Amino acid sequence: MASLAAFATGISSAPPSLDAKQRRDSSSSMSSEEGETPISYATDPSNPPGTPAPRTTRQKVDRRPPSTFYLKPKSKMTLAERICNLATCPPEMHELKPESLDRGPVPTQSVVKENLYIFSRALAPLAVQQASHSLGFHWPAWLAYPFFVWYTMHFALHWVTRINGYCVKLGTFDEKQIGRDRTPDKSVGQLAFGITAYMVARSGFMFVLKYNRQADVLFDFSWSYPLRLMAWQLALDYAFYCYHRASHEVDALWFIHKQHHTTKHPTAILAILAEGIQECLEVFLIPLFATALIPMSFSEMWVTLIYTLYIEILGHSGVRSHWRHTSLFWLDWFGAGLAVEDHDLHHRFGKSGKNYGKQSRLWDAIFGTKGERIETWGM
Ligand SMILES: [Zn+2]
Ligand SMILES: [Zn+2]
Repeated sequence: MASLAAFATGISSAPPSLDAKQRRDSSSSMSSEEGETPISYATDPSNPPGTPAPRTTRQKVDRRPPSTFYLKPKSKMTLAERICNLATCPPEMHELKPESLDRGPVPTQSVVKENLYIFSRALAPLAVQQASHSLGFHWPAWLAYPFFVWYTMHFALHWVTRINGYCVKLGTFDEKQIGRDRTPDKSVGQLAFGITAYMVARSGFMFVLKYNRQADVLFDFSWSYPLRLMAWQLALDYAFYCYHRASHEVDALWFIHKQHHTTKHPTAILAILAEGIQECLEVFLIPLFATALIPMSFSEMWVTLIYTLYIEILGHSGVRSHWRHTSLFWLDWFGAGLAVEDHDLHHRFGKSGKNYGKQSRLWDAIFGTKGERIETWGM
């Protein structure tokens, strides 16, 4: 799948070359061992040449895999690099923060506000289609499908940009030890392929199962939808928990899953970085399992897709906030609710595991794999 990704996106496996001065400037603030750090993750390509790059880690040398593609002029980027560059984080997110920085207690984000954000965005394309229906034009699948794929990308980009803005404003977890990771050059092709596959396959999935051009899509919801949404998310999370825990405990499966763990301090876009077989399971088979258990109309499946995409991006953002799951937040009353720090810690734990759920900590609590929070301890 990786070589297919490289073929499809036209990415070269060789990292882009930097001139000697650029390398020296970027690494000078990092280490006296010149050459060990090829580039500072916090270099801002819009700064004048020669501007010293800020530190990115408390360790002497930043040994994370090089990320230099974002420094290229846009006209020289491959298609894969352009796709990954769409969601590039502000440079501040990659900087090490000083020990003296006092941001105060970790703030809590309102779930009401976030539900309004998701619903208003998810209903917009349904409203466009409904308006067309009321004028007598019912969209055939070949027209509606690319529209929904495009809208999924639009939503993802808007959400990534918004959450990155919050990361700058509120900070990120573990920021006094290390800044957030960039997309490594070696993973650009795979990530770009994963992003494209996610958008195309996840939207296509609901068209194959449920699209009906005569349906009044804006009103195709039943009163039980909120309950079925939560049941769907818990069913999805159960299947994901089983697969994910096995991936950490069975060496052959870890070989597949470790690609997703290339990053220990992920950002929103790295949510989708995974090996091909994992992508297939996460994007297609596990949601199919949940959909087989919990039936939904086309419109309900669409809103559920937007909810799921929202949570997957949020969970990898690293935003320093007690930002809870938008519909399963009530699990907090039972000590089983999920917040951003939980999956952030999962990446830091590496193969040793803990916090396998991506929608809740219900299955982690039941099966004894719930990890302790650090910066949001007791919240
Ligand atoms: Zn994992
Ligand atoms: Zn992850």
